[in-house]
Amino acid sequence: MLEGELIGALGLLSSESGFFKDEHLEIVQEVANQLVIAIQQARLNEQIRRHSCDLEERVKQRTAQLEAANKELEAFAYSVSHDLRSPLRAIDGFSRIIVEDYADRLDEEGNRLLNVVRDNAQKMDKLITDLLSLSRVSRNEMNLTNIDMSGMAGSVYRELASPEVKDRFNIDIGPMPEGYADPVLMKQVWSNLISNAMKYTLPRDEPFISMGGYREDGKNVYYVKDTGVGFDPKYEHKLFGLFQRLHTEKEFEGTGVGLAILQRIVHRHGGSVWAKGAVNEGATFYFSLPVREVSDNDGK
Ligand code: ADP
Repeated sequence: MLEGELIGALGLLSSESGFFKDEHLEIVQEVANQLVIAIQQARLNEQIRRHSCDLEERVKQRTAQLEAANKELEAFAYSVSHDLRSPLRAIDGFSRIIVEDYADRLDEEGNRLLNVVRDNAQKMDKLITDLLSLSRVSRNEMNLTNIDMSGMAGSVYRELASPEVKDRFNIDIGPMPEGYADPVLMKQVWSNLISNAMKYTLPRDEPFISMGGYREDGKNVYYVKDTGVGFDPKYEHKLFGLFQRLHTEKEFEGTGVGLAILQRIVHRHGGSVWAKGAVNEGATFYFSLPVREVSDNDGK
């Protein structure tokens, strides 16, 4: 019997009456008990297998629904940003024409207000550019290849540094492990980190930026360290969120998108990002990348 249900019967037959003694019956009872346990076990296993199949199927369905919703949202954000651009450029272009051709017919306040309109249109254009590059990070295919990370960091720095930065800043670019990543996206990572380091260090005396890398716990780690204004470590978790800024627009211009792009790129590569800093004591931004697994066919 299994939970009140009869699932089978064991019988003993003999031509001699009284052949089976109590001990024989006890043995048969014990065998029957063991059989019940085995059948119960097999039924439970079957139930568990069915439940886990169900669960797997449901997880698959939910993941597909989520992926579709995400893609739709990305496409929506992309086209909205794209479509916002032309009216915005018209506002900027026409207000520029007024500033250039009609300035003498406006008083000082009129000119000031027009410039405010242009400034804001340009800020919004920058924001749209940043949002478009954020959505491009996940839209485009990745082409993974070996990258000389130290060389890339150096060339990005030379491209971005203004003459003032080149003049005043001390720069140190140390050795770094070779990266295995998408070169276009990696260039964007370096560009976001280096332009931030320059921006948030510019007001300081003796500005210094150092970059380097090392291998740790089976990952390649890269960093950009500066002697800039730093940040309150209490809010470190906010740094990489979209539109999150720890400094005001008055102190430093920005959109709060750069580090969100950086995080998305690094996550897409299977790595992670983090930062250390203190107010007025500089900041260090780190990102890691998985080490390339070399297969037996490599180099043959
Ligand atoms: P943005 O610089 O356009 O505001 P980011 O996403 O690049 O946007 O950075 C988010 C915030 O992180 C910045 O507003 C700033 O408060 C902080 N931050 C980024 N880089 C640095 C740095 N090198 N030193 C100090 N704070 C930084």
